[in-house]
Amino acid sequence: MTKTYDYDLFVIGAGSGGVRASRVAAAHGARVAIAEEYRVGGTCVIRGCVPKKLLVYGAHFAEDLQDAARFGWKVGKCDFDWPVLRDNVLGEVERLEGIYQDILDRHEVDTIPQRATLTGPHEIALADGTKVTAATILIATGAHPVVPKLPGAEHGITSNEVFHLERMPKRVVIAGGGYIANEFAGIFHEFSCHVTLVNRGEVILRHYDEQIRDRLLTISLMKGIEFKFNAPFEKIEKRKDGTLKIHVSGQDPLEADLLLWAVGRAPNTAGLGLEKVGVELGKNGAILVDEDNQSSVPSIYGIGDVTDRVQLTPVAIREGQAFADTVFGGKPTRVDYAHIPSAVFSHPPIAGVGMTEGEARDKLGSYKAYVSDFRPMKNVLAGRNERALYKIIVDQETDRVVGLHMIGPDAPEILQAAAIAVKAGLTKAQFDDTLALHPTMSEELVLMR
Ligand code: NDP
Repeated sequence: MTKTYDYDLFVIGAGSGGVRASRVAAAHGARVAIAEEYRVGGTCVIRGCVPKKLLVYGAHFAEDLQDAARFGWKVGKCDFDWPVLRDNVLGEVERLEGIYQDILDRHEVDTIPQRATLTGPHEIALADGTKVTAATILIATGAHPVVPKLPGAEHGITSNEVFHLERMPKRVVIAGGGYIANEFAGIFHEFSCHVTLVNRGEVILRHYDEQIRDRLLTISLMKGIEFKFNAPFEKIEKRKDGTLKIHVSGQDPLEADLLLWAVGRAPNTAGLGLEKVGVELGKNGAILVDEDNQSSVPSIYGIGDVTDRVQLTPVAIREGQAFADTVFGGKPTRVDYAHIPSAVFSHPPIAGVGMTEGEARDKLGSYKAYVSDFRPMKNVLAGRNERALYKIIVDQETDRVVGLHMIGPDAPEILQAAAIAVKAGLTKAQFDDTLALHPTMSEELVLMR
């Protein structure tokens, strides 16, 4: 690598993608620096996947404690102490942040805890005024929660603040019908808050299989979560006592103690100097990159949420790895975006990979959907009237399993393993040929006829 620059690689943003790219490039022998204006670990570790999943675990105790009596346990009066869970979760986040920093240090990546902006195709300005040069620059600045522009919108919070609440609110209104909305609807509900989910459209989780998302809606309604559809927000008023009056079109105003905006995330590109150096941006401000993560300026690359391709941590990590292997490892690698498994950690969770039934109907000559609609054994004994639903979508021409979708306890854990079979292109006959592991929920996957 050339020595005419301060670094071979300068990464902006120390989230999942940026950290992976930095450490792999360094392992390939590159001199690397990474700038981070907030905390090492990025959205996933600091205010996303990790703390969210820990809250999901914490929330699920509410049901387990209720169900315990049917399994013979005498559980006394139970109280939930939010500050205990909150502080333990924040402590765990801090521990993980330390591990991420350690990874960078062990690979001799220079961490620069400052905001960095571009001043040229090979030049970066740091917040303290220092200029740094690099042969290659990688933008991995992630995305931020969108807050709609409407009167009083600032009275709501986003997923950035939700992990730090001082106390549990009694009434929560959640705006949106996607991942974050449904995950936090479950979390708040289990913590005994009254939850109303308000969505601009008429469906939740639009990209998931219709039957699966309908099942989540039915179960959520049964639990007592309220839904308002076709209800765009108009304005939010904050009263002196801190409560909110939320005006949505076509509905009576909603009263709430907390409003959570969960209406999507937009790329963090504002003020980075990208346009000035000629980096082309797409709608939403996303960096436009090619299959090798290269932007319109050859020395500048982008990976992860800032490119607004697939906003998922494992995808950003793959992109970071592919970038580093291609540019610094002499191993040209492209990310395969087919068959990306995904999950919603709702109560109960949803998981899916491959084509939904709707997509199969549109894209395949002929398909068959196999469905297993069952009450998990544990729910039966607990007297919990929550049914699971598994679906296998098969291309009838090839017999290949092209989609797998499920809702039910541990669905994401089960789907991750099953996604290997879908990615490998296994046929329905090969699923059928596999012996069941009894008694499990996942045995349904090999028993559907
Ligand atoms: P999503 O894209 O999942 O959902 C956004 C929701 O907000 C949709 O219901 C959408 O409606 C609605 N919406 C969009 N724009 C507006 C608007 N201007 N006014 C009112 N409603 C609007 O976004 P999230 O914020 O929930 O999550 C962001 C991303 O983060 C996800 O897409 C996902 O990639 C990632 N994520 C992944 C998780 C996981 O893997 N488990 C967990 C959390 C986040 P409509 O359907 O009509 O477009």
